[in-house]
Amino acid sequence: MKRSTTAGESSKKLAKKQKVSSATSASRNQDDDEETSGWPSYFRDLFKVFKALNTVLAFVSSHKHLATTFPVVRASVEGLLKRPLELSKVAEIKALVPEIVKFAYIPENDLRIHAETVSLNTKRELSPDFTLHSQSLAAPSTSVLPGQEEEEHVLVLEFIEYSRGRLKSGPGLSVPPSMTPKQLNKLVDKRNQRFKDAVDELIKATPEGEVSMDLLQAAARDHIPVNPFAKKVLAATNAGGSQNLIIPEPKDRPSIDDIIVEIQKQSWYEKQIVDRRTFKEKAAVEGLLDEPLSHTIQQALRESRNITSLYYHQTAAINAIAKKKHVIVSTSTASGKSVIYQVPLLKFLEENSNSTAIFIYPTKALAQDQRTALEQLLWACPGLQHIKVVTYDGDTPQDQRRTIRETASVIFTNFDMLHASILPHEELWRTFMKNLKLVAVDELHYYSNLFGSHVAQVIRRFRRICAAVGNQRVIFVSCSATIAKPSQHMKSLFGVDDVEEIVEDGAPSGKKDYIVWDLPYKDPQAEKSGRTSSLHEATQLMIFLMMRGVRVIVFCKVRKACEFVMKGLRQELSADGRLDVLAKVMPYRGGYSQEDRRRIEHEAFSGRLLGIVATNALELGVDIGVLDAVIMLGFPFGIANFRQQAGRAGRRSRDSLAVLIADDLPIDQHYVDYPDELYDQPMDDLIVDVDSKVIIEAHLQCAAHEMPLSKDDAVYFGASLAELCDSKLRKDQDGWYHTHPKFLPYPSRHVSIRGADDDKYTVIDVTKLGLPHGVPRIMEEIELARAIFELYEGGVFMHQGLTFIVKEVSHDTKVARLVRADVNWSTRPRDYTDVDAKQTHRIKEIAGSPHRAYFGRVDVTTVVFGFLKLRGSEMLEFVDVDTLPYERQVTGFWFDVPKDLLGLLREKGLKPAEAIHSASHAWMNRFALSPDLRTECKAAEKELAERKDEKHTEEKSRRKRPARLILYDASRKGSVSAQAFDHSGEVLRQAHDSVEACPCDDGCYKCIHSATCSEGNVVASKAGALLVLKALLNLDIDTNSVAQQPGQGPDTIVEATYVRPLDGVQVEPA
Ligand SMILES: [Zn+2]
Ligand SMILES: [Zn+2]
Repeated sequence: MKRSTTAGESSKKLAKKQKVSSATSASRNQDDDEETSGWPSYFRDLFKVFKALNTVLAFVSSHKHLATTFPVVRASVEGLLKRPLELSKVAEIKALVPEIVKFAYIPENDLRIHAETVSLNTKRELSPDFTLHSQSLAAPSTSVLPGQEEEEHVLVLEFIEYSRGRLKSGPGLSVPPSMTPKQLNKLVDKRNQRFKDAVDELIKATPEGEVSMDLLQAAARDHIPVNPFAKKVLAATNAGGSQNLIIPEPKDRPSIDDIIVEIQKQSWYEKQIVDRRTFKEKAAVEGLLDEPLSHTIQQALRESRNITSLYYHQTAAINAIAKKKHVIVSTSTASGKSVIYQVPLLKFLEENSNSTAIFIYPTKALAQDQRTALEQLLWACPGLQHIKVVTYDGDTPQDQRRTIRETASVIFTNFDMLHASILPHEELWRTFMKNLKLVAVDELHYYSNLFGSHVAQVIRRFRRICAAVGNQRVIFVSCSATIAKPSQHMKSLFGVDDVEEIVEDGAPSGKKDYIVWDLPYKDPQAEKSGRTSSLHEATQLMIFLMMRGVRVIVFCKVRKACEFVMKGLRQELSADGRLDVLAKVMPYRGGYSQEDRRRIEHEAFSGRLLGIVATNALELGVDIGVLDAVIMLGFPFGIANFRQQAGRAGRRSRDSLAVLIADDLPIDQHYVDYPDELYDQPMDDLIVDVDSKVIIEAHLQCAAHEMPLSKDDAVYFGASLAELCDSKLRKDQDGWYHTHPKFLPYPSRHVSIRGADDDKYTVIDVTKLGLPHGVPRIMEEIELARAIFELYEGGVFMHQGLTFIVKEVSHDTKVARLVRADVNWSTRPRDYTDVDAKQTHRIKEIAGSPHRAYFGRVDVTTVVFGFLKLRGSEMLEFVDVDTLPYERQVTGFWFDVPKDLLGLLREKGLKPAEAIHSASHAWMNRFALSPDLRTECKAAEKELAERKDEKHTEEKSRRKRPARLILYDASRKGSVSAQAFDHSGEVLRQAHDSVEACPCDDGCYKCIHSATCSEGNVVASKAGALLVLKALLNLDIDTNSVAQQPGQGPDTIVEATYVRPLDGVQVEPA
């Protein structure tokens, strides 16, 4: 077959070349003969085989387009040896030097092949006889994910490169660096030497009376790889056998203490643990109910949940609800919070079986999970078995909605549905609303910032409709993770006063260990070598834990990291033949199709999984069973997030582990230096803005359509109602206000409560198109703002850890067509985003300063001009692409940096780009709604002028940016920047004060760094930021006290030019 002959012939040529031209090679052979003369002939022969393999593999691996499948290697080795290569010989070599030989079945898709698309259909002709044909044996497994089921496995043989006990290349197949022939020879020598040493060691260590050869051959039997599909069948027919690789049941796993000790003994452990603290276990605190529960409810709790007594926070909440109070419970994860609203629901239903309730969850997954739990409880409750509980969300078919309204007692839904479906059709829901007793909102901490501010108005609309149908007694119950000021948050979200706050956690908890895990340097002696990859550390640690029966979740900050971890696990576990473990790991993140999500959720809830790789989507508390460990890949977005994620592990009496793997970013390194802050620092208040006129007006347009408004409705919508009604709505003769006609007939469609773009790209797998029965498959939908960075032609797109190549993107139809392509490189877009002020709508003074703040139209233009092909951290290639820029118009505000200051910065060797970027983040750090704002983040790639790519560096260096601090709405429908502008001057002052007072040296996340910086805060200058802030505020600058900096690299900033204002714009006072 074509590929094998190429490899065979070429390596023959290589061998020939070495023989004739290389004198050193001849003398090497002589040395070998001398050194091995004392060996039994069996080992001398084995060494010949090894040397042939070594030569072939060195050649093959230096040619990236050749896959080192066993058939390919075998053909070439046989060419050199002039005799057949037996599988048993390779197994003996593997047994002798296991640390340098990889010999295993891996999924065909993980083969490294240079071509974009792969056609391995001819592989079967080559397969050695011992390969059991996978398709005839593959039993359909229930656990496989889409795209995985048809994967075939191929036998791969290659060498692994080790350095100081650490895998150089990260997880998966070894990555051959491009080597000179000299380096290649050196490597071949090194491996031959390793083999000789191993034989010497074995001969020396062989006990008297035994034969080294027999020992090796016995050991080799364990090293013959078995096709995983065949293995399943063998395992079924041949139970027993030598299974010392059995993973303990999670209940029998070692203690976390023992595991931490064991980690520290691993060859890959290089003092990554920089901080550890242990929190002792806590006993349960039970509470008493004012009125005892009925026997049936007690029975239901006992039978369905095994609950015979209640914790303090549960009884406190149930008591408060009995007194008709609204309740917020803010306690740790898994403290049994659902009981708090389930029990009152049962009580209401017992009193009156017509009672209804709404349970609201931020995600469908969570709703799904909780619905099942409630159904089980009702089923165990005599007299209430008939109660109908349904999910009412965007996936609910239209034709079922009517039945649901008429027959369901409890609906599980979300605020999006309340806003866009239930309230606009309130007339259909009147009976339900009249009987409504309880609204439970779980995970209340999720509702903050812009989304929370919209939800606050949706709840006000909802309360108004309930009151209109004569129901003023609805009780709101909510639960949240541990947050700052829970009752204040609930009051502002719901607009109610009478709130009982319960924060005393009565649930027991097991012992908990928290670890901060720093990345070791690649070369411990030289910091310049850079740090190892956090992905690799996370993958390695996750496998280590799973192999010990520890159920673990890895949280990634972005979807892409999630895919990379999954890919790493897939490669590593396949290469080790641990498909049994791989089958127990699943990725879970937003964007997957509904079908895939449900499938993964089902697997997760059933408690069958050992590992989950997730984005923050799961942070919300989906019950994924008992987890023993959490790995956070990089510091999550804020302290509250950190604590919530860490809280996902451990329940009741079990010990648990939370590991923060610190990335090589300023914010992560800050916590490496000051780990105390992870535990001591107070959490930020959650922000809900109920005074925003932009948001209120949007919801008044909706509310007026639900039921005409009057000025009395100010009790719901606040004091600005009258003014907004008069100016924005239509008044009729009787004094009622109606929706402005331009928003009809569906005003709610004009309000996106999540502030997200509605435009989504559909990602379609067309791999099988054209094959018999081949149909395209929709893999996921992604928002436009992400599509631009992930869907570019030629790019690698990852889905559930599998790689696809983007073939075609249509921006008209918003469809991307992908084919499954099995590559072991990834791509990273090369892009820039320009944020340009286009028109000034408002101008505002800054107190005490001649400078101004400006507000207006901002154009954001993202250009993906190419991508980088990467293998691990090795750059393979730069590829140019020609995609249309992604442009959007938003609102934003800006401050222009005075010309004199630019001069001063340059004079002092401070880079204006660093100063401006840091000053922008300093401003954002002091403004509460900043999570919904963005700034033009400066990229190191541009500012530090990477030399590798002269062409583009030059091109990009010519891209000059105005000296301007600019902040804009993350969403096109956002309105945060308008509010931010109102406070722009005060916040500027606070930013200055906090930067000046911050005791850090070069900036930290308390002053100039931001957890959300899209470029990782690499381009930063605290000194520069302080000067920019001082200049804008017109504060004195003592130029002598500014330290001179070396000031290298390009200067990418030019003076900002004045942006034309609309006619008649007046300067507003500060
Ligand atoms: Zn600082
Ligand atoms: Zn930034």
